[in-house]
Amino acid sequence: MISELAFGASPLGNEFGVTDPAEGVRAVHTAIDRGIDFFDCSPYYGRKLAEERLGIALEGRRHQVVVATKCGRYGTEDFDFSPARLRASIDESLERLRTDYVDLWQAHDVEFADANRITEETIPAMREIQRQGKVRFIGITGFQLKVLCRIAQRAAVDSILSYCRYNLLMDDMDSLLTPFAKQCGIGLVNASPLHMGLLTEQGPPSWHPAPLEVKEAGPRIAAACAARGLRVEALALRHCLNHSYASTTLVGMSTVDQVERNVAALDCALPEDLLAEIKQIAEPVFNRCWTTGRPENTDCSTQRQTNTAG
Ligand code: NAD
Repeated sequence: MISELAFGASPLGNEFGVTDPAEGVRAVHTAIDRGIDFFDCSPYYGRKLAEERLGIALEGRRHQVVVATKCGRYGTEDFDFSPARLRASIDESLERLRTDYVDLWQAHDVEFADANRITEETIPAMREIQRQGKVRFIGITGFQLKVLCRIAQRAAVDSILSYCRYNLLMDDMDSLLTPFAKQCGIGLVNASPLHMGLLTEQGPPSWHPAPLEVKEAGPRIAAACAARGLRVEALALRHCLNHSYASTTLVGMSTVDQVERNVAALDCALPEDLLAEIKQIAEPVFNRCWTTGRPENTDCSTQRQTNTAG
């Protein structure tokens, strides 16, 4: 059992701009005080920095939370899902997180790997490490949904994290992944409810992979919310929190103010007419996916392709 709202720690690794470390610690403490008990991290976030900062913030409070981290991705192009790397990776993560176990350990962005090797080598190695007591549950994460299902069909996992596939700009998680997870009783983590910062008043980071026309929809949706005196982040979060199957909605945070506002979103209403207006704005770019990972693992060929040239 985990809280319906979860804390994404990638911003602690400066993935969305420079974060003040002391404020990051205060954000983590505020989140725990407000009832958030699921924290998601990775060695990839800030190239180890996020794990280090989360470890510091959780000192003395580790027993109050469920900690998730990942393995296999260590840089933009640095992937290694081999059993030998995984065995070293878990020990390094435990040291940075200042704990002797993680609750959920996930193979990070599996679409960048050969799916057969993930099922035949990576997941069995993760299960072996689980038997040693270093991790309680194992999972896989990624953007491309079909390969997540293909892998989980062949090698049992406890949870699947998918990002940017169920929010105000996309909902194909529900056609491509949710029914499978539900049928198999696999935990589903819906990450990036703000479409990696695109559904915020400040807008997305420069590295955001969505096509230009999707990025242009963000400020228009934010303006429609602002016209009603509402913040787009609250509406976007509330929409995801209403999901009927996802175990939790995982949002990236690094300041006390963000934590307070995101917790307040639990009590905000989502006016039907505003939702209809947002849907109308989003419609021309809705479910516009983009390519990540190996060509054979992409979902995009069967959907409307990313096409920044229009
Ligand atoms: P997100 O949609 O949660 O957006 C995060 C951005 O929104 C950050 O810039 C944050 O500062 C900002 N933000 C948060 N609350 C705000 C508020 N109230 N007002 C204004 N701005 C606000 O995207 P994300 O952080 O990429 O996703 C959430 C988490 O999910 C990540 O931190 C990570 O833990 C996980 N994740 C995992 C994967 C993966 O495994 N492949 C991929 C993406 C995300």
